[in-house]
Amino acid sequence: MKIPELTPRMMRDWLLEEDSARLEQLWYMANFVRERKVGQDVFLRGLIEFSNRCARNCTYCGLRAANGDIARYSLSERDMIGCVGVALELGIGTLVMQSGEGVALETEQLLRFFRFVRHEKKMALTLSVGELSDVEFLAFREAGVNRYLLRFETSNKALYNHIHPAKKNCVEGNQKNGNHTDSDRIRMLRKLRELNFEVGSGVMVGIPGQTVDDLVNDLLLFRELDLDMVGIGPYMPHPETPLALEFEDHKSSYVCSNRELLTYKMIALTRIILPDANIPSTTALATLNREHGRVLGLQRGANILMPNITPQEYRSEYSIYPEKAGTSMGPDDSYAAAVSAIAQAGRTVGAGKGDSLRYLARKGNH
Ligand code: SAH
Ligand code: SF4
Repeated sequence: MKIPELTPRMMRDWLLEEDSARLEQLWYMANFVRERKVGQDVFLRGLIEFSNRCARNCTYCGLRAANGDIARYSLSERDMIGCVGVALELGIGTLVMQSGEGVALETEQLLRFFRFVRHEKKMALTLSVGELSDVEFLAFREAGVNRYLLRFETSNKALYNHIHPAKKNCVEGNQKNGNHTDSDRIRMLRKLRELNFEVGSGVMVGIPGQTVDDLVNDLLLFRELDLDMVGIGPYMPHPETPLALEFEDHKSSYVCSNRELLTYKMIALTRIILPDANIPSTTALATLNREHGRVLGLQRGANILMPNITPQEYRSEYSIYPEKAGTSMGPDDSYAAAVSAIAQAGRTVGAGKGDSLRYLARKGNH
């Protein structure tokens, strides 16, 4: 099968396509490319939400500093080492360490933990803690962190600025990031590439005010940045955030009202334009469509799942959006749900670290 080179016009047409029979062609193409380029394996990442403390005030996220309604926590080093044991018992070879930004944990403590995970346990390690200085990126890279995940959220600059209040509006204490005043995640993504990380980014779909043209530009930016990993999830309104009010006004717009279908389309189009990238079927998708979201993501281009291995008692406080799938589960159940989704999608659980083939190709190793 010859997959056509997608022009921006064709991307736009697919994003606007409503005929389900024609959309089958898109799903077919994405699945075909996925199978040919990254195969049948779905790789698992053990997600540790190690702290919900955050100095930022992103208007969409329940962890924003101004939200006084959640109990803030940071896992102890002992808890985190416990999570590593759980991951290894489940046969998961890679960890994704995620938290709020700026005030989560002492860098020294994290560096020690990362060295332990990489050098003693030989696991792959993804960090997702928001914006850092170049010096911090380098320190984490040197400690063995080999992947970094920083979504640019939307390529529309005005919309980006609107949903990310300037840092001066954030709580004090985020001085660690003092060497940059603007939120320039694109620059950081390029820096991460320079530092030899496997670079992951992505967007939310259905942000109030987002347009189909914005989504086309998101896809073009994925390609321009030549990302190794792309995470795409629907925007989920959180009642304790300012953006949820705006969502009420926009919810009948095309992008907001079709955000589940548009998320599948974005996953499928991303697979076609970046055939060998790693693409997760996201938790937000599994939350919006509890029964089928995870599986449909896998069938429409995705090849990664991130079962949550955070101890259950902390999960309800990591409420970036409400009713997040898996909140009432422990690590074993989250793992079982992932394995069951893989079986339902007719695929196999990948063994090993599941490095991005995109990354390996760039390094000349594949
Ligand atoms: N603090 C880090 C990591 C935690 S947030 C950071 O900001 O990068 C991780 C991701 O959760 C964000 O990139 C965002 O895309 C997603 N997210 C946050 N709030 C969300 C919401 N209300 N709906 C959907 N996704 C959300
Ligand atoms: Fe903090 Fe990340 Fe949420 Fe922004 S998206 S408020 S940086 S946790």
